[in-house]
Amino acid sequence: MSSEPYMHYIDGEWVEGTGSETFTSQNPANGESLGEFQRGTEDDVDAALAAADDAFEEWTELSHIDRAEYLWDIYHELKDRHEELGEIVSKECGKEISEGKADVTEAWHMVEWAAGDARHPKGDVVPSEIPSKDAYMRRKPRGVVGCITPWNFPVAIPFWHMAVSLVEGNTVVWKPAEQTPWCAQIIAEMFEDSGIPDGVFNMVQGFGDAGAAITDDSRVDTVLFTGSAAVGHEIASKVGGEPGKLAACEMGGKNGIVITEEADLDVAVHSAVMSSFKTTGQRCVSSERLIVHEDVYDEFKERFVENAKRVAVGDPLDENTFMGPLIEAEHVEKVSRYNQLAKDEDVNVLVDREELEPHEIPEGHEDGHWVGPFVYEADAEADLRCTHEEVFGPHVALLKYSGDIEDAVEIHNDTEYGLAGAVISEDYRQINYYRDNAEVGLAYGNLPCIGAEVQLPFGGVKKSGNGYPSAREIIEAVTERTAWTLNN
Ligand code: NAD
Repeated sequence: MSSEPYMHYIDGEWVEGTGSETFTSQNPANGESLGEFQRGTEDDVDAALAAADDAFEEWTELSHIDRAEYLWDIYHELKDRHEELGEIVSKECGKEISEGKADVTEAWHMVEWAAGDARHPKGDVVPSEIPSKDAYMRRKPRGVVGCITPWNFPVAIPFWHMAVSLVEGNTVVWKPAEQTPWCAQIIAEMFEDSGIPDGVFNMVQGFGDAGAAITDDSRVDTVLFTGSAAVGHEIASKVGGEPGKLAACEMGGKNGIVITEEADLDVAVHSAVMSSFKTTGQRCVSSERLIVHEDVYDEFKERFVENAKRVAVGDPLDENTFMGPLIEAEHVEKVSRYNQLAKDEDVNVLVDREELEPHEIPEGHEDGHWVGPFVYEADAEADLRCTHEEVFGPHVALLKYSGDIEDAVEIHNDTEYGLAGAVISEDYRQINYYRDNAEVGLAYGNLPCIGAEVQLPFGGVKKSGNGYPSAREIIEAVTERTAWTLNN
């Protein structure tokens, strides 16, 4: 176990690190300090990569099933500590409590998937043109996997990256998000408790410079990154230029929901409220564009606006809260800049709760990073920054369309991103058209534009991802496919 300031976990030990700087984890709902952590340096990353490199050979000699045993231990711990860990997630990243617990649930689903997959076939028997020849496709682990994760799913996403990588025989160096080092500390303690061999799992706390030290190092064979498009594209272009190295990047979105004239408006309003305001709009799949047919526009607008006005913002640990705070003060500034930009771009503001009323802020939480919903209507055809750039907050545009589903999908696809989207309609022709033509990796029909299941792909197209959505597809990023032929 490490004590404060909490350390890095390198080569099976808690290590103070080479830097003198530390940083603090803060509860975004009240500014309370949750712990002090060592800030990782290039030298710390170097030590972690050396350990991962050394541990690789012996780790690959174990069977998939033996490697998975360490993860089964972690699976049970995640389940046994569900309530406690869910609260920690809520405290450290401000998600309301049911979402905090859901983050932990998703983590054990991923661990279960990866550890269970250890018993599934790992290659293919392939037909050969020569009758006496046996031909196989086999998989080999790529080596050292560098994992760089965001703060908004501080338990689930690290396991999306690491569980499959480890079971497939890779070793891991992980740089968690600087906003959620406490969750990372607990995950590293779980790996320590599992008895996983030294050097197989390593964790260096810190900021973007520590992440860059991972991506830039030639000992790293695969980089798995989840986070913003700005950072992801920088990593993909850097790593893409290096022979033999691969970067799988999952990034942001500017996600839309199409609400047609055939929509059940109860479903539409529920889906839009969930998609736009859950996690205070800070999910990669959150919806910031509601594309609504003119025939149902006025009724939908009235009901959505009514909800946005009364959505409960408050203490994430209070079960009545719908929306917690934003993650940090810098992010409040960003959301506020986009709200102002929308006003400057001459949209029609319908709800502006950017600054909450004093009575809306729970007692003792005056230092929290509070913002409420900001809703506006804008010209669906106009090339506005506010309706095309990811804000990552409760900032929502209503875009009215006329015509048919083809017109709606054209507006829907008019962004550089392609992560997620939804259609609300009771007409199967419209639903099928949307399914086939929406330029997204994750499409939802008559459902909120949120939610992931580990057995499904989870990743974007266009600017949102480069083709390695999580779970099964991550295997492609962390293994090498090789051919083996044998003459009988
Ligand atoms: P971010 O890009 O700022 O940070 C993500 C991680 O990258 C952090 O660990 C950070 O320290 C590290 N980092 C920063 N600069 C780096 C650099 N130059 N080199 C290497 N690493 C660096 O993202 P964030 O604010 O933590 O997360 C929010 C973003 O993540 C949003 O855009 C959201 O849409 C996206 N996201 C995407 C998915 C998905 O599955 N597609 C899931 C969750 C979040």
